[in-house]
Amino acid sequence: MPFEIRVLGDPVLRQTAAAIEEIDGRIAQMVTDLVPAMYQAEGIGLAAPQVGIQKRLFVYDIGEGPEVLINPEILESHGEWVFEEGCLSVPGMSFEIVRPKEIHIIGRNLDGSEVSIEADELLSRLFQHELDHLDGVLLLDHLDKPERKAALRQWREMRSPISDGGDLRDPTSLLP
Ligand code: ZN
Repeated sequence: MPFEIRVLGDPVLRQTAAAIEEIDGRIAQMVTDLVPAMYQAEGIGLAAPQVGIQKRLFVYDIGEGPEVLINPEILESHGEWVFEEGCLSVPGMSFEIVRPKEIHIIGRNLDGSEVSIEADELLSRLFQHELDHLDGVLLLDHLDKPERKAALRQWREMRSPISDGGDLRDPTSLLP
């Protein structure tokens, strides 16, 4: 498996990823490599920046097979939904976060065709979470200041004895 999932503290997670100009063989290969990395990490989504690639692309699978969304963009969002959200880049931690319940998202698939999806609840949450990764946003940014401070303290305590976090896979980290 060529990809290593980057975790909180890695500056690559804080950068804005670049739009994909041309969907070519290199992009197809990237998707081919991202999907097994997502499965190995037991995630339901994985964004390119999480493996150090600054491109606007993510893969996902909520039980209906692997899919990819290239240059995704949210056109509309409605409602509010609370969900306990985890992240493969912040392994072992999860937080109740409020976000819009329904979204309308567009993007492209590997053929270059336009994709338009009305997503609700889990799928909607997954898309919003992955899109955040393309903008350098992590779930900790959705917490208020005291919550974020406490989370960072917990993160440091958790991480101190282990350097690579390879064994910190937690079933609560549903969303990557
Ligand atoms: Zn994530």
